[in-house]
Amino acid sequence: MALRLDGKQLAAELEERLSKEIAAGTAQAGRPPGLAVLRVGDDPASGVYVANKEKACARIGVASYGSHLPQDSTQQEVLDAIAALNADSRVDGILLQLPLPAGLDEGPLLAAIDPDKDADGLHTLNLGRLLKGEPGPRSCTPAGVMALLARHQLSLEGKRAVVVGRSILVGQPMALMLQAANATVTVAHSRTTDLAAVTRQADVLVVAAGKPRMIGAEHVSPGAVVVDVGIHRLPPPADAPEGTKAKLCGDVRSEELSEIALALSPVPGGVGPMTVTMLLVNTVVAWSRRHGIDHGLADLVV
Ligand code: NDP
Repeated sequence: MALRLDGKQLAAELEERLSKEIAAGTAQAGRPPGLAVLRVGDDPASGVYVANKEKACARIGVASYGSHLPQDSTQQEVLDAIAALNADSRVDGILLQLPLPAGLDEGPLLAAIDPDKDADGLHTLNLGRLLKGEPGPRSCTPAGVMALLARHQLSLEGKRAVVVGRSILVGQPMALMLQAANATVTVAHSRTTDLAAVTRQADVLVVAAGKPRMIGAEHVSPGAVVVDVGIHRLPPPADAPEGTKAKLCGDVRSEELSEIALALSPVPGGVGPMTVTMLLVNTVVAWSRRHGIDHGLADLVV
């Protein structure tokens, strides 16, 4: 039976560590860490994600300075809101919740965030820092995957890693982080021919394709570690009884892999909770750095 890479449990453990860091450092800093989640418009899924992030902040003692701009906000209004958060000395981390309403250009808005307050690690400078191996906030989802692998003592040194997906949000930074951990990395994407032949070479397979249940037994060699980043809400079948809830699934047909893989991350409860936790880690580390506090989170950051 494959080892379960339990992100929910690790996230809870890390929240406890973060709470202690905050309690220990607040006297020196004179204030708790602050995270600002900036939401624009009324995308319903974003509402849930923002609420989850704010709840996580409240659990560990991070102050939330979120703001919610209307759907018809102009590019300049969002830039002004970002500039205000950049200048706000209570704010250590800023997150621009995506997707933005049509008509707003996300690139210049992400670029306007102070790189040292970039809680999501998606600023061009921070992606460059990752590429060069320099310290800086790392993209939350791949950093969460790395923490999950490390927690289960799954060494990457000398291993063959395959990442399915090459987005800036997940696939590309994931590949760089695996390479920095001395894995030999292949990145597959929608134009890759014979995907199964590529993924079967993996000792560690990270799937971030955004395609529900696309990876199954035919893609995985015995003993591989499989991390499922995908998350999808599957509507109940037409003949399901009324009130049946939508089911969550990942990019992996996990039931096919339980006897093949060495380790497997579940959906939900795998990578998802780790993404939120790494956002908190980035915020607490930025706060510690600003106030010269020695933090004990070195194993989670670069
Ligand atoms: P994108 O749609 O931006 O990128 C998907 C990538 O997968 C692309 O590089 C694409 O290739 C590749 N791809 C698509 N289809 C195939 C295929 N059939 N074979 C091989 N590669 C393929 O998605 P994201 O990276 O933003 O997200 C990926 C998944 O992860 C989504 O399900 C998303 O919901 C989930 N996610 C989960 C998070 C969490 O916290 N659990 C956080 C962030 C994302 P190409 O470049 O050629 O188009």
